[in-house]
Amino acid sequence: KTKKEKMGIALVGLGYYSTDLLAPALQTTTNCYLAGIVTGTPEKAIKWKQKYNIPDKNIYNYQNFDSIANNPDIDVVYVVLPPSMHKEFVVRAARAGKHVFCEKPMAPSVSDCLAMIKACKDNKVNLAIGYRCQHDPNTQEYMRITREQVYGKVKMISCGAGYFDARTTHWKQNKALGGGVMGDMGVYALQGARLATGEEPIAVTAQASTTRPEIYKEVEETMMFQLQFPSGALAACHTSFGINMNYLQVNYEKGWLKMEPFSAYSDNKGSHSNGVINFPLKSQQAKQLDEDCAAIMNGTTLIAPGEEGLRDIKVVEAIYKAAQNGGTVKI
Ligand code: NDP
Repeated sequence: KTKKEKMGIALVGLGYYSTDLLAPALQTTTNCYLAGIVTGTPEKAIKWKQKYNIPDKNIYNYQNFDSIANNPDIDVVYVVLPPSMHKEFVVRAARAGKHVFCEKPMAPSVSDCLAMIKACKDNKVNLAIGYRCQHDPNTQEYMRITREQVYGKVKMISCGAGYFDARTTHWKQNKALGGGVMGDMGVYALQGARLATGEEPIAVTAQASTTRPEIYKEVEETMMFQLQFPSGALAACHTSFGINMNYLQVNYEKGWLKMEPFSAYSDNKGSHSNGVINFPLKSQQAKQLDEDCAAIMNGTTLIAPGEEGLRDIKVVEAIYKAAQNGGTVKI
């Protein structure tokens, strides 16, 4: 495909995820390519310009970003900033008339999410959240097994998402920037429970804790949370910046399913009462980018639109409330 047949993507925030995963994936996509960058660090602009052959006219900083409205090379702005900055840049991108991709967690609050959805609607642009796992056929397979009631109804979920973060100063430890494990790795555990039941939780209880209070002064290092679903299904979920875990277990009326890992970048796999789940996938990020761009070009439904990000943040808010008051919070 020529560049004209591909959507031009501008990455906003050239940190770990943009550098290590998204930019490399954009070298392999068929429906889009890396057309521009938005960065607050001039040295990164120089490096990326050389590495990815990005013309000067497609390089922005956080101050002059709004003039991206006049740049026909950019079709989609992909916001890959700390969560507290997502709302501002999604709204500015929408006002510039660009479609928007936004990383998870969508934002630290429900009110931010609503403002982001409204801005995109008002400006008639699409909004997709970077839930890469929803594009992974291994995730789609456990969703199918529930949907088709292969083993009857879901009764119990156990799900853990965490890693040992050795960093001592990072926005993930900073409340004002949207840190805390619940919005970060926590949304994977929450997605595991929501996708494996196909339901929205109606009540939560939660416990926050930390083993490294000298680092996690403002936010929780670990969150354990329990979800009740309308069907009566229950979920026990765990997420942590101090514990390595990546698993999903689903117990049905008449069978079981286990994935480990369930939300890694690659090689997600598992087994169930009567089979295995092990679909090969080259790049989750490339598939996500290609599928989201195809949906926009063809006018079809996005796999994870802004409303899906909002569903998680509603539960995340309830979990924080429950952790604080120690009781059950209804949603
Ligand atoms: P990093 O800290 O590595 O990068 C964030 C970048 O944002 C910085 O490099 C910087 O880029 C820019 N930035 C602007 N202002 C600030 C600020 N005040 N503090 C820190 N950074 C700032 O974060 P990640 O790349 O790990 O995460 C970014 C987003 O991507 C988050 O929402 C995160 O949850 C999500 N993510 C998603 C993953 C997934 O699997 N879907 C995996 C990893 C992260 P610059 O220098 O260019 O201005």
